[in-house]
Amino acid sequence: MRIQTSIVNFQTSTFLLALALLLGVGISSLWGIARFSEDTAWVEHSYRVLAKNEEIEAHVLGAESAARAYRLTESPTQHAEYLTMAPRVATSTDELVRMVSDNVQRTALAAEMRRRSLERLAELQHLVDVQSTEGVARARELTLAGRGAELMRTVTAAHDALEKAEREVLAQRSAETAEQVPLLMGIVVIGTLLPVVLLGLLLAGLSRETRRARELEARARTAMEELEAAAVARDRLSEQRRRLGTYGSLLQSCHTPEEAMQLTATITHELLPEAGGRCYVMRASQNFAETGMRFGTPAAESSDLLQPDHCWALRRGQVHRTGPGHGTLRCAHMDPASGPDEWTLCVPMTAQGAALGLLHLCGHAGDKVELGDFEAATTVSEQLSQTVANLRLRESLRVQSLRDPLTGLYNRRYLEENLYRELQRCERRSLPLSVMMLDVDHFKRFNDEHGHAAGDALLTRVGEVLDNLTRGEDIACRYGGEEFTIVLPEAPLHIALRRAEEIRAAIACTSIIHLRQSLGPVTVSIGVATFPADGAAPDRLLQIADNALYRAKAEGRNRVVSPRQLPDLAVAETAEA
Ligand code: GH3
Ligand code: MG
Ligand code: MG
Repeated sequence: MRIQTSIVNFQTSTFLLALALLLGVGISSLWGIARFSEDTAWVEHSYRVLAKNEEIEAHVLGAESAARAYRLTESPTQHAEYLTMAPRVATSTDELVRMVSDNVQRTALAAEMRRRSLERLAELQHLVDVQSTEGVARARELTLAGRGAELMRTVTAAHDALEKAEREVLAQRSAETAEQVPLLMGIVVIGTLLPVVLLGLLLAGLSRETRRARELEARARTAMEELEAAAVARDRLSEQRRRLGTYGSLLQSCHTPEEAMQLTATITHELLPEAGGRCYVMRASQNFAETGMRFGTPAAESSDLLQPDHCWALRRGQVHRTGPGHGTLRCAHMDPASGPDEWTLCVPMTAQGAALGLLHLCGHAGDKVELGDFEAATTVSEQLSQTVANLRLRESLRVQSLRDPLTGLYNRRYLEENLYRELQRCERRSLPLSVMMLDVDHFKRFNDEHGHAAGDALLTRVGEVLDNLTRGEDIACRYGGEEFTIVLPEAPLHIALRRAEEIRAAIACTSIIHLRQSLGPVTVSIGVATFPADGAAPDRLLQIADNALYRAKAEGRNRVVSPRQLPDLAVAETAEA
């Protein structure tokens, strides 16, 4: 600011100085011209005085020669000539005296010239008068005896003295004028050049100032543009934060990893509409990741399946970027035809140290993608990883809470939750539903003979048989101890009896391998109840089936019993066929 003020002060001073110099030059020039014209007037005046001096002498000589001619010729013409010339001497001398009246010295010289001229004229007049009155002879006599020549010399001397004095004055005035010319020229040259130099400096300063002002303006414009860009980036960032916030809370409500991925596809496309990509899900074996979902239109394709070795991000467990400013080290899962015209972003999805998959994005190098966008994508990946891990954990806990750990079959809780629902469904559709209660015969004895671990092996084997011999929609579960329940939706009694018989027969011929020893044989007893004939409530059906099981035990075990025992299973099968 202080520098700016001093620059302005310097410019003002320079301008004022240049102005003053120009004014000085103007005034000096005017003064010089005035002096010059004054001197010229005086020189002219001197020349006029000299001319007048010459004129007087010429008049005196003219009058003298006219008078002489009159004396010699007595011609009236010459007399008239003399009468014309004579008064001119007086007139001219008067004029001469008047002309030099400003100077005392030359006034005296002019007066001397006048006096001498008039003396000479008086002598001539006297001779002319004598010639008129006394005759020409007398006049000629007087001429010869007179002082004519002497008087004429005095006139010439007075003339020369005045001329000399006037020429001296003239020389002095010319010298003075000549002296003034270089001074005046010097003033004009310096007074012109100096303002020109100062104005040049001023102009240079002004152009420098203009340049600086332009630079400042450009800088201000750049700063303004940066400010606007920062405001846009800030708005974009806050919009991203808002979306990420919404995304985070929506993720909490997702029930399955697929749902979470679908949501991620939507949010990622919203955050980076220019880009496209995939979310890969790692298989449990960790040797392959497959595409879980796709979003947007990627600039270059990535493979559907990828090995962890094919992705730098998965190999290093770090975000991997390519594109302008981030190198060209492409992952092997990228289309080999892709090149420097695309950018890629691979974000590994990990949770609790385990690789869950990969979020992959790809766009065109010219896209307006900023650092915040990549950070947002990384945040999305982190949140998705956490959510997928949580959902998997929840699923595994849910499965654990519904499955029996020894046999892998459903547990009693699952049965109770689902039997009611299945009954409702079959009732709505007027379809039957059968329930089997299965109990291992003499299991206590088996336990006692072979040990508890062998008993567990037997239960596991029974679980496998039940799993193999039931359909996907059937519910096979361990009811407790060595008792099992199988729900067969849509199965009428005769089908249930036949399936029970198959199970009984399969177990009867199964050997139990424990500690490399084959144990057995083992048999089971099965009680069967059917909806709607045996009841409509879950407890009622289970109770009827249990009663049938009790009867099977009572009747000798290793058999299938239902409350409404069909006369002959073979007959029923024939009827069905
Ligand atoms: P029955 O033919 O009348 O059914 O005779 P049982 O011996 O099978 O009948 P009981 O109900 O008296 O015996 C059940 C035994 O099963 C009692 C218990 O020690 C054993 N048991 C219950 N749960 C398990 C288990 O998870 N593992 C093992 N090894 N044994 C179990
Ligand atoms: Mg029992
Ligand atoms: Mg038993």
